Amino acid sequence: MVIAIDGPAGAGKSSVARGVAAALGFTYLDTGAMYRCVALASLRRSRPPGELAEQISLDLGRRVLLDGEDVTEAIRAPEVSERASQVAADPAVRRAMVAEQRRIMAHGDWVADGRDIGTVVAPDAALKVFLTADPRERARRRAAEMGADPETVLAEQMIRDERDRNRPESPLRAAEGAVQLDTTGLTLEQVVERVVALARSERAAAR
Ligand code: C5P
Repeated sequence: MVIAIDGPAGAGKSSVARGVAAALGFTYLDTGAMYRCVALASLRRSRPPGELAEQISLDLGRRVLLDGEDVTEAIRAPEVSERASQVAADPAVRRAMVAEQRRIMAHGDWVADGRDIGTVVAPDAALKVFLTADPRERARRRAAEMGADPETVLAEQMIRDERDRNRPESPLRAAEGAVQLDTTGLTLEQVVERVVALARSERAAAR
């Protein structure tokens, strides 16, 4: 079974996806980390991201490995976030990442988060959730996590959101049949509980 969690930056997707995966015994797939690895590789090697996407080797365990090197922290740097949203607009990069994500999720139980899981990667997912939150709250959460200035984070987040929503290739939008969940003012536990309850009722209905 696949649970797809999409939404803009800072909506809480990865914390929610991790919590849901832990509660249900599913495996978490962080697709953003894949775009971040392509971005890091292209920043370092100054090669076209479309070419690199085909060639790099990724291991998305508890630590993220790029060609065997632990880049778990390096891929969270602000310049990598910015570059990731640029490389994610490249059709060749998306083709390679989507193929790999489908291969990974072909068997077993998964919670995947990203921007196009419900629309492109797994449109047949048993449960699709579109998480949103007030932009200021999203920026506040990210800034607290990173120890950064909320206004700077808000400005950068707006640029990335705009780019993700307006790109011709797989723009960020809620998938057909997605449950929209506004997490403003909710705790992480409350959101995880909601998604777990939805997943359990989907599973019961499928039996
Ligand atoms: O989710 P995260 O912020 O780590 O994603 C980094 C960037 O990767 C996003 O800004 C977005 O442009 C891109 N992305 C994407 N499709 C996904 C996951 C991430 O385009 N499924």
